[in-house]
Amino acid sequence: MGAGHPERPARLGAIEDQLIASGVLPHLQRFDAPLATDEQLARVHPLEYVRAIRAAAPSEGRIHLDPDTAMNPYSLNAALRAAGAAVLAVDLVMERKAPAVFCSVRPPGHHACRARPMGFCIFNNVAVAARHAVHAHGLQRVAIVDFDVHHGNGTEDIFEGDPHVLMASIFQHPFYPYSGADDPAPNMVNVPLAAGAGSREFRAAVTEAWLPALNEFRPELVIFSAGFDAHMEDDMAMLRFGDADYGWVTRQVKAIAERHAGGRMVSMLEGGYALPALGRSATQHIKVLAGLDAST
Ligand SMILES: [Zn+2]
Repeated sequence: MGAGHPERPARLGAIEDQLIASGVLPHLQRFDAPLATDEQLARVHPLEYVRAIRAAAPSEGRIHLDPDTAMNPYSLNAALRAAGAAVLAVDLVMERKAPAVFCSVRPPGHHACRARPMGFCIFNNVAVAARHAVHAHGLQRVAIVDFDVHHGNGTEDIFEGDPHVLMASIFQHPFYPYSGADDPAPNMVNVPLAAGAGSREFRAAVTEAWLPALNEFRPELVIFSAGFDAHMEDDMAMLRFGDADYGWVTRQVKAIAERHAGGRMVSMLEGGYALPALGRSATQHIKVLAGLDAST
């Protein structure tokens, strides 16, 4: 994205480093992400949009898709692999080759609308996962849970009114992208949190709003939009979650997945910019996904 941009390659290294330091990595199976196909992307984005992104990709230098979102010669492949990871992850959990999958990918996706890149995002990775689950595996009910500090406006744009998808989210409000709080569609369980809200407010939102709606929806697959930028050490925003909150929320949602979805979970990395906090929080999340957490 360019020098000084928070959405930087070191983010993935920070997660990898902490997985090694915590002893988790040897317990995980690893897969390389394939490139998403136009057919897979066109379930979410108009084909003209996909073609426009392909055409915009520079062969040298850097171009800007919006003030926050740039492409260099490697970005198109990264975006195609991030979306391709979503497809492979769904295939792996549906074919019972893995109980749960975490996709350590960049760029993130939840701000990417149907026909508009935005906020570091080019293709909406969780949306590609959800539509793949519906179209390729015949699922009727897919839940998306989004604990990134920013509202997943792109995901909402794609799925509002879609009977196959329930989206549960928390986000700081009012804050970028200034959406989600007013009159959301019935399949959106949005809980705006005020600046300064921390563990207590987050856990109350999950317990009182997310879990009853998820239980009623009975998802056949749960997809996380896993952003870690609500962490108190992350100065991208002003929520104050701690490392343990990410393990806790994953356990709550995992219980839903075990009750209704045969335990099937796919998680896609979204935000998280304070590298040590990102590494620790993602590791808490991954430990629960992998069943490696001691406290259940
Ligand atoms: Zn974010």
